[in-house]
Amino acid sequence: MDIQEAKKNVCKAGKRLLNKNLVKGTWGNISLRYDDNYMIITPSGLNYEELKAEDMVVVNYHTYEYKGIHKPSSEMKLHGEIYKTRKKINAIIHTHQQNASTVAAARREIPPILDDMAQILGPTVRVADYALPGTKKIVKATLKALKGRNAALMANHGAVVVGNDLEEAFVAAEVLEKTAKAFIEASFLGEAKSINKFEAWYMHQYFIKKYGKQKKKK
Ligand SMILES: [Zn+2]
Repeated sequence: MDIQEAKKNVCKAGKRLLNKNLVKGTWGNISLRYDDNYMIITPSGLNYEELKAEDMVVVNYHTYEYKGIHKPSSEMKLHGEIYKTRKKINAIIHTHQQNASTVAAARREIPPILDDMAQILGPTVRVADYALPGTKKIVKATLKALKGRNAALMANHGAVVVGNDLEEAFVAAEVLEKTAKAFIEASFLGEAKSINKFEAWYMHQYFIKKYGKQKKKK
C-alpha cells in the first residue's frame, strides 16, 4: 500500500467513526502502522467532518518526529508505544464513545458477558488507572490494561481498541460499545452474568489464530 492510499484509509475510518457516533467533533484519534518506523495518525484539533487525506500526519513512532501540515494527535505516544510492544497490531482507535465512557467513569472492569466480546476484545476489558491525557503515565497505564486484549477502558476518559487492520479495530470499537451498553443494562436487570473465564479466553485465542491464518492466505 502506498502512503497516499494509507492516508486515505485513515481519513475514511475517521468519517466512519463519526457516522457511527463513536466520536464527536475533534475528539478521538485513529492511526495505522505504515512500516517498521512510521505510523499515519489523525491530526490534532481538526474536525472529523472536514478531514481530508492530506491532513493525516506521518509520525516516526521511535523518535516522534513528524511530517505533515498539521500537528499529530496529542495522544500519538499512546499509539506509538502500542505499535512498539504489540507487533501484530496495525491499527489503533481511541474514542470517547458514550457507553464505554460511562463504564470508564464508574471504573468498572467488564467481565466476559457476551460471546462476540470474548472473541474480539478478549476475556475481560480492563480499566487503565486515571492519568492526565497526553502524559507518560496514561500511556503506561493504558498499555498495562491492554495487555493480551484488543480493548481497554481509560478511567474517566474513554477507550482504546486495536486490531490487525483498520476494519478489525473498527469492529472492536463497535463491539466494545455494544458490550458496555449490555453491561450497564444487565446490571439494571439485576446482574450481568459472566461466561466461564477459561471459555472466554479460549474464544479469544481461537479468534486470533483463525484470523491470523486468513491473513496469511491473502
Ligand atoms: Zn481522548
